[in-house]
Amino acid sequence: MASRRLSLQQKQRIKSAQESVDLENAAHFQGTVLAHYGGEVEVEPDNDRLNTLSCKFRTNLGTIVCGDQVVYQVKNREPAIISILPRFNLLQRQDGFGQIKSVAANITQLIICLAVEPSPNLFLLDQYLVSAEQQDLNVIILLNKIDLLETQDPDPFFLNSIYGSLDYQILEVSVKNGINIDKLQALCKGHTNVISGVSGVGKSSITKAILPDLEIAIGEISDANKEGRHTTRTSRLYHLPAGGRLIDTPGIRGFNPVLDSQQPLSHGFREIRKTANGCKFSNCKHLNEPKCAVRAAVETGSITTSRYEHYVKLLEGQN
Ligand code: GDP
Ligand code: ZN
Repeated sequence: MASRRLSLQQKQRIKSAQESVDLENAAHFQGTVLAHYGGEVEVEPDNDRLNTLSCKFRTNLGTIVCGDQVVYQVKNREPAIISILPRFNLLQRQDGFGQIKSVAANITQLIICLAVEPSPNLFLLDQYLVSAEQQDLNVIILLNKIDLLETQDPDPFFLNSIYGSLDYQILEVSVKNGINIDKLQALCKGHTNVISGVSGVGKSSITKAILPDLEIAIGEISDANKEGRHTTRTSRLYHLPAGGRLIDTPGIRGFNPVLDSQQPLSHGFREIRKTANGCKFSNCKHLNEPKCAVRAAVETGSITTSRYEHYVKLLEGQN
């Protein structure tokens, strides 16, 4: 690429950006973004977590989201964010107009909430899993409302047979009867968690069960008061009383996963990614190519047909 001479203004901008990440500088501090409201960002200082700060920010920094690690300085008692530290991931969702919105950064675990009623949609589950693999997130597949199970079948939705065998963690819970909520709390420890899933599976109830101090509307209540704060609240990072962190927002709770089209889709399917090493062609898409190890594995049943079909459906959607 041809090098261009920098204008004085550009040089100054680069110099100030470099100064901003000088953590040796005693006037610079690090913190975590708890929430972003319009023109102000609430930051939890790393060295003083109880005294959160309302910070201004430089407009040239780009979008600051909940979970970001930032550097800030305090001048004339006014704290201001001067840089965002590199993110290891960024959770995005599509809004109702198809626009991609950044919602949270530096997440480590996605809790995919399913329920006995409304029953699991395995295509949506696979989309969440692709998104989680692409963002390098740990996953908990949660099956809520097991109090409603009427069958003696130990695996009525094939979650254990399909996803357990792929080494995904599956946990059956009932918020109503308090079943396995302690196990969920234990699994959240040490992670920055996000809960997601379709409406009605019990995400608000689960959030409330693991974060009792949070005021959120559940089910019927939120339907009765659609204008309430439940629908307008912004993303927020909370510390869970039993350990770990939770980033909560109604917007993320029901997010449509945004898949990264720059990464091969097969990377989002663990068993396809692994099996693809045996395909004749390194760029095999596992559709009609000869000597495809993935299709052979579908034939023998070692790759589940529904998983392969969802892969093909998503691949076709990308073209
Ligand atoms: P969200 O839309 O995913 O946030 O779901 P909500 O938390 O609002 O719950 C939807 C409905 O499911 C409400 O009527 C809850 O009372 C109910 N619900 C939540 N958890 C359970 C559960 O474990 N068992 C049963 N039977 N109902 C539940
Ligand atoms: Zn192949």
